[in-house]
Amino acid sequence: MMLQPIESLELLEPRIAQKGLTVWFTGLSGAGKTTISQAVYKKLIDQGLKVEHLDGDLVRQTLTKGLGFSQSDRIENIRRIGFVAHLLTRNDVIVLVSAISPYRAAREEVRQQIGSFVEIFVDAPLSVCEQRDVKGLYQKARNGEIQRFTGIDDPYEAPFDPEVICSTATESIEQSIAKVMNAIAIFPAR
Ligand code: ADP
Repeated sequence: MMLQPIESLELLEPRIAQKGLTVWFTGLSGAGKTTISQAVYKKLIDQGLKVEHLDGDLVRQTLTKGLGFSQSDRIENIRRIGFVAHLLTRNDVIVLVSAISPYRAAREEVRQQIGSFVEIFVDAPLSVCEQRDVKGLYQKARNGEIQRFTGIDDPYEAPFDPEVICSTATESIEQSIAKVMNAIAIFPAR
């Protein structure tokens, strides 16, 4: 049997493994969670990393279809997303979650469960979100066509100590994206 030439042995070295991480975007509707997380997703994919994006709107049509907007259903929504994020994270995927996820305690619960976790508070004043009204939902909520809309007639609990705050009313989309990319790059477990 021929021995392998010594130069080719290096190719057998395992590459430095990617570590899993959940990056959880929370904030009011229209604050910018989807915009920022989609851009971050693209950047990470372009770097050749394994990434998944669990976006609240899509999740509610699939994984958590049938859940409503009562406190218990909102908590259940967060828990199910957290469960999937945990499975992916422990398999070394970078998971981007963008969901209003209004309850602080529920976010803390998934943080504890997942461990490798950074919280991004996508912050804009209600008045700004309402003016953007990306999906026309604030107007509907104000007209009474939909109930239990976060910020109007349902609570939002801002994080006390998030790893990153994106103040989207005062910073550019590029600045917000850069903050998140920086937090991912310096996360201690990576
Ligand atoms: P959410 O996912 O939180 O409901 P979206 O991402 O759908 O919010 O909408 C946010 C809107 O705010 C978009 O129209 C986006 O272009 C705008 N926007 C303005 N500045 C920023 C910023 N710095 N980061 C993110 N979005 C911003």
